Amino acid sequence: MKTIKLQAENPQDIARAGEILRKGGLVGIPTETVYGLAADALNGEAVKKIFQAKGRPMDNPLIVHISHIEQLQDLVAEIPESARELARRWWPGPLTMIFPKSARIPDEVSAGLPTVAVRFPAHPAARAVIDAAGTPLAAPSGNRSGRPSPTTAAHMLVDMDGRIDAIVDGGPCQVGVESTVITLATDPPRLLRPGGITLEQLREALGRVDMDEAVLNPLKEGEKAASPGMKYKHYAPKAHVIIVDGPYEAYCRFVNRHKGPGVAAMCYNGDEKALEVPAVCYGGREDYAEQARELFDALRELDEMGAQTVFARCPEPRGVGLAVYNRLIRAAGFEVLHIGE
Ligand code: AMP
Ligand code: MG
Repeated sequence: MKTIKLQAENPQDIARAGEILRKGGLVGIPTETVYGLAADALNGEAVKKIFQAKGRPMDNPLIVHISHIEQLQDLVAEIPESARELARRWWPGPLTMIFPKSARIPDEVSAGLPTVAVRFPAHPAARAVIDAAGTPLAAPSGNRSGRPSPTTAAHMLVDMDGRIDAIVDGGPCQVGVESTVITLATDPPRLLRPGGITLEQLREALGRVDMDEAVLNPLKEGEKAASPGMKYKHYAPKAHVIIVDGPYEAYCRFVNRHKGPGVAAMCYNGDEKALEVPAVCYGGREDYAEQARELFDALRELDEMGAQTVFARCPEPRGVGLAVYNRLIRAAGFEVLHIGE
């Protein structure tokens, strides 16, 4: 299949994307978080094609994207007051909420769960495509399953060219990691995946919000995932990534001691000066938003360099940094080395 390249600023291209989606096709779309792979959320056959194109396990449910708050009520069985509060604060934006689902949601979308995840994205092109399609869109991240999520159209094409009908290029993504996922189907609400809206912000809005174990830890043998996506190896480049947790000087000494063919570093801006191996920076040490924006690009760049072993500086699990840490420990298969002074 030939993948048609469309431009977000061209209204005819947006109309074309809408038409392809209405007919049950697959279109890559920009959002403020990462690029998504969209299909008509109310068409189970169309949604199935997302799983095929990504190589995604069928038990991993998709997020449904809307462009008007009024679309929510048809998709869910009830809207708790807490959801209205979060929607007032952060919709449109990088926040996904999980609700008991309505009968309109095909099983393919919810992967057989009684719940559905819904997001109202802020990106104007994402909203324009949803409007043009005239239907909510199911859209997971636009990478092949297991790979880093794409934050540019070019990155998405590396994984998806020839596998999808079209892609809308809307430039690089602003947030750079996938949306925050919170379930309101439990009491208290629970954070399933950290993202651009932080746990601290959610607690400020709702009072108590628990953090799911799977945010920071691998699932134990036989344990059931609250968010099925959290159980898979994820976001991984081809290289073997190891997180090195320790102060700056100790990190540099450790990396330099291990230099050799195929060894690379993934570090904060400026760290590279003290390193004797090729390095890719993923943002300023205290600029968590920049780290989020750069993380997946950095992982892809390490692949392009042909890195085989990557020593990554450990992100601070605070604010948006929690989202960075959550993605990077998965890219590293939970391999974290703690080093001292
Ligand atoms: P992606 O957008 O590709 O990162 O995937 C969507 C994420 O949302 C995955 O981690 C899913 O497991 C999660 N998700 C989607 N729907 C639900 C749901 N109904 N309950 C729990 N997690 C969900
Ligand atoms: Mg994904």
